[in-house]
Amino acid sequence: MGTAYANVIIDISHEKVDRPFCYAIPEQLSGLVVQGSCVEVPFGRGSRLRKGFVTELCSVPDYPEEKIRPIAGLIEGVQVESHLIRLAAWMKHQYGSTMITALQTVLPVKKKVAVREKKVICRKASAEELREALVICERKHYTARARLLAALLEDDTLPCELVTGKLHVAASTLRSLQEQGLIGVEGAGAYKERLKERTRETYQPPVLSHRQRQIVEEIGREYEDGVGGTYLIHGITGSGKTEVYLALMEKVVASGKAVIFLIPEIALTFQTVMRCRRRFGDRVSFLHSGLSMGERYEQCQRAKEGKIDVIIGPRSALFTPFRKLGMIIIDEEHEGAYKSETMPKYHAVETAGELARLHGAGLVLGSATPSLESYQAAVTGRYGLFTLTERLTGGSLPHVYIEDMRRELQKGNRSIFSHRLRELIADRLKKEEQILLFLNRRGYSGFVSCRSCGLVLKCPHCDVSLSLHGRDRMECHYCGYGMPKPTLCPDCGSKYLMGFKAGTEKIEEQFLREFEPEFGRIPILRMDADTTKTKHSHERILAEFGEEKARVLIGTQMIVKGHDFPNVTLVGILAADLSLAVNDYRAAERTFQLLTQAAGRAGRGSRPGEVVIQSYQPEHYSIRWAAAQDYGEFYREEMLYRRMAGYPPAAHMLTVQIFDSAESRGRELAAQIGEKIAPVAKELGVTVIGPAGGHIGKINDVFRFSLTLKHENKEPLIACKDEIEEWLSSCAKPEKAVQFDFNPMHTF
Ligand code: ADP
Ligand code: ZN
Ligand code: ZN
Repeated sequence: MGTAYANVIIDISHEKVDRPFCYAIPEQLSGLVVQGSCVEVPFGRGSRLRKGFVTELCSVPDYPEEKIRPIAGLIEGVQVESHLIRLAAWMKHQYGSTMITALQTVLPVKKKVAVREKKVICRKASAEELREALVICERKHYTARARLLAALLEDDTLPCELVTGKLHVAASTLRSLQEQGLIGVEGAGAYKERLKERTRETYQPPVLSHRQRQIVEEIGREYEDGVGGTYLIHGITGSGKTEVYLALMEKVVASGKAVIFLIPEIALTFQTVMRCRRRFGDRVSFLHSGLSMGERYEQCQRAKEGKIDVIIGPRSALFTPFRKLGMIIIDEEHEGAYKSETMPKYHAVETAGELARLHGAGLVLGSATPSLESYQAAVTGRYGLFTLTERLTGGSLPHVYIEDMRRELQKGNRSIFSHRLRELIADRLKKEEQILLFLNRRGYSGFVSCRSCGLVLKCPHCDVSLSLHGRDRMECHYCGYGMPKPTLCPDCGSKYLMGFKAGTEKIEEQFLREFEPEFGRIPILRMDADTTKTKHSHERILAEFGEEKARVLIGTQMIVKGHDFPNVTLVGILAADLSLAVNDYRAAERTFQLLTQAAGRAGRGSRPGEVVIQSYQPEHYSIRWAAAQDYGEFYREEMLYRRMAGYPPAAHMLTVQIFDSAESRGRELAAQIGEKIAPVAKELGVTVIGPAGGHIGKINDVFRFSLTLKHENKEPLIACKDEIEEWLSSCAKPEKAVQFDFNPMHTF
């Protein structure tokens, strides 16, 4: 008995991707109807013929057989949707989820957009006049105006949304420049015409270095030969990777195919946007979280109709429905943000690999600190490996000191600043150069505890402590619950309730206490979860620091990404090992990446930079190799550990996550799943650890349990996942109650 039935989705752009309907495959179409096929089926009362897509083939229908109608016909020709449906099916199989959820992830949702004409800002005066105005603005510290004028000197027309968004220029500023006759605001129609004439012909990209050209030629040759290979470009920040991507993109676009360029949202700066616009004019589109569903849908339509060649965006840009895809490029491929946190929990790098395979496209990955997964694939020959070792922006690599904070304590230094860091800070404050202080811990936040009984105040809905904000407010970072800090301990009634401030806030306080007596008022900017709550606040802080409105920027890992501050000549990394303390097999890798990136922030301009890494375990290899900027040695040691402990990429791992609002029911479900897979696991040689309570036992009143499965290969783990999914569907558990996470980024 073969596959006689097909599940067909009728309206794939429906908001909820409606459920599939079962149809019989008539004999004459047998073997021709496959997953992703576009078919005509009778639908509804009048049995009007409608177009639909086959999501699955099956031999046993889940519908009374006598009511099933046959497929009326097959629509020939490759449809964009076929690839996406096949990709969804692959994701469902690889990561676990229902087909509908997988389809919802990859298919664009139809939403009407209110048509509002896009505006552009254009230059109305000569370059000479603009330059004069710019000098005046700079002298008067009209920084927003100066920023806009400088940008207009490079490009005479800029999209309005870019100016008010990424450049942070207020409407009132625009009006006053308009009144001075320096700029104009026009409809986008005129702009498009001008852009067409102006770009590509007039823009001169930099002449590639010998090494850059080699890489472009080699990958380009394989592209032309239709090899469809995967490549890893390992190069420090500023070594010219983006120019390589852009040159490759031009090649692919010239051959009539499209490019998907993934980049972490935080790294999509104004400069990057402009670099792409200059090359691809209005044939490039940008995806970002600020777009509405309707705007996203419109972009997908434009891609489908062939109106754009290049899409740039975060991981979801992967699902842009291009008819002919030639290349996928993923910058900063090691970023955790490429892994989805909702079902199906897919990794964009792996999924890009499958999408590239479906299209016969090339895949180019780039990073200064590649993920162990990608580097392993490269050194074992599965990926082509290229390295770029020189900074093209000038500026030398910084000098790095490692300070042992245990020794500082022995010497009687109780400050959070080591002796060396304090000296260097004073030196930079004297020279009026900028300082970056980086606290290596995400979500390291304050808490409140009782000195009498030791109670730590916890969120009533989550298994985490409440953070102290300001003097007397406590908040939960997981669910948003907040309450005033009580005056008495709720347990023992003692009045000695102590608040410990969040790391960055504490550093700011200490910094001012130690340096203000000598240097007077020191302008400081702080970037952490508290100061970046509102939209664009993140970019605003970076922009202000870039304009040197502050001497010092203190922050968590948010400050180490993507931005160039040429006047920063000192980077202090406080508590470098804090990120090692977390119970997570990727802790050392993440520490190495963060320290390398943070160290790379110093000395980007003409003056040499210095970096001070403070640590309580300075002998740890992730710290030593980051200080030496030696990725190869780090990789070697870290792989030894992964091999020994059986962690990815040396082995495969699957965390089965169980969620329930009732603790006992959740625990029971976890135990049931454990029993259910025990025989299969035994047969396939899969190691099962647990069930156990989650690392955080409860979030938002939902209890968490998990099972961890390990095996050298992925297939046995997928088989266990299938077994669990089948059992779950037989007992009608809600889909979200049990989730799967393959090779997780974080401990559950
Ligand atoms: P990465 O992506 O590795 O950080 P970029 O491609 O952004 O590096 O290059 C860093 C800087 O060097 C950019 O300002 C870029 O314009 C410049 N640059 C890159 N390649 C060249 C080149 N061949 N000649 C001159 N400048 C270059
Ligand atoms: Zn108490
Ligand atoms: Zn909470």
